[in-house]
Amino acid sequence: MKVEFTAAQDALRKELRTYFENLMTPDLKAECDEAMGEGGGPLWREALKKMGKDGWIGVGWPKELGGRGMSPIEQFIFVEEVMRAGYPFPFLTTESVGPQLAEHGNERQKREIVPKILAGECLIAIGYSEPGAGTDLASLKTTAVKDGDGWVINGQKMWTSLAHFCDYVWLACRTDPEAAKPHKGISMFMVPTSDPGWSCSPVHTLGEVRTNATFYDNIRVADDAMVGELNGGWKLVTSQLNRERLSLVNFGPTAEMFNNVVRWAQNLELPDGGKLIDEAWVQMNLAKVRAGVEALKLVCYKQAWAMTEGNLEMADASAAKVYGSEFFIEVYRLLGEVIGEASLISRRTEGANPIASRIERLYRTASIITFGGGTNEIQRDIISAAGLWMPRASR
Ligand SMILES: Cc1cc2nc3c(=O)[nH]c(=O)nc-3n(C[C@H](O)[C@H](O)[C@H](O)COP(=O)(O)OP(=O)(O)OC[C@H]3O[C@@H](n4cnc5c(N)ncnc54)[C@H](O)[C@@H]3O)c2cc1C
Repeated sequence: MKVEFTAAQDALRKELRTYFENLMTPDLKAECDEAMGEGGGPLWREALKKMGKDGWIGVGWPKELGGRGMSPIEQFIFVEEVMRAGYPFPFLTTESVGPQLAEHGNERQKREIVPKILAGECLIAIGYSEPGAGTDLASLKTTAVKDGDGWVINGQKMWTSLAHFCDYVWLACRTDPEAAKPHKGISMFMVPTSDPGWSCSPVHTLGEVRTNATFYDNIRVADDAMVGELNGGWKLVTSQLNRERLSLVNFGPTAEMFNNVVRWAQNLELPDGGKLIDEAWVQMNLAKVRAGVEALKLVCYKQAWAMTEGNLEMADASAAKVYGSEFFIEVYRLLGEVIGEASLISRRTEGANPIASRIERLYRTASIITFGGGTNEIQRDIISAAGLWMPRASR
């Protein structure tokens, strides 16, 4: 078996690498660093629009939706390169909710929202979790009640990441409180954050990443704000999460950090002569990271290929997420050891080294994706039931 990209895909990657070298100006890099890898600043927005205008955001999307008509593999290469370049790419919008809208959205959503996503002019946050609904998402309480030719939404969501600079929340609401099973009474809505009934307050996390509590106070939306079928939201939630899980473990930033640390070890002279990279334990740490990144690449490319076949399996997406998220924590520990004490110093400390302090920050944020997109405990349940055909865990 030979696993490799086509010559055209290799050329695309090369083109993208040069493109991002030019796009990532020192000012944009500084703004992205300040935003703790989240984006949202003016230069970040400008760069996103440029990517849209240059046709990159939808490189793997069908032409009839405004994309370039290549496959999910090219799309994955694009996301890998944009993230490797250090640009906080809004993949939740473009790689997980966007495709859901393209597949299940109504005519207005396809006409108005999808082109804006591909133009880099529309950002979407995910509104699932609530103060009393996380893993047990089907118990969510935010309601959408039918009122004339629209719906009135009331409730609170928790951990609505990026919502403070998004245009919409992809919101899961209870539309049938009497449904035989809780997950059968949920529908999805696109709720504009510009509505006066919408508000949010920040929640700052250990990794300095901001997330939000969001509030929905008598928000009135038209019928066509609903995505997919009435009470058919659960299917959309699960397929969005499969895509999200894969996007969460994109290895672009890790691969770039690995290269930086290898260069660090090659250049650092030891007091007794020789270079840091000559040390056996350093080579061992770097080899572990390299092997893990290569394995993760294969896992992710296989999923990208599965998407080209229209066959993204839930258990495979969960396996990629579990492996990738736990591996990232290990990576930053191993690379931090190579760098030494400097990797414990925050970038806010005077004299902090940019590469070393980036590891410090990434190590603090890496744990987020062990539960973001669904906790790894639950992913293991999914893998055992849907991938290994073992009996479902009792709930
Ligand atoms: C920084 C951050 C960003 C986030 N971003 C978003 C976002 O943008 N949108 C959004 O909707 N949500 C978001 N979340 C929420 C995230 O998806 C939830 O934290 C996650 O689903 C877990 O829910 P919970 O926190 O309520 O934990 P709980 O569900 O209370 O779980 C607590 C622990 O119990 C375990 N557990 C629970 N039930 C079971 C079970 N049946 N079997 C075995 N173990 C179980 C879990 O695995 C976990 O370890 C974010 C969270 C954080 C912290």
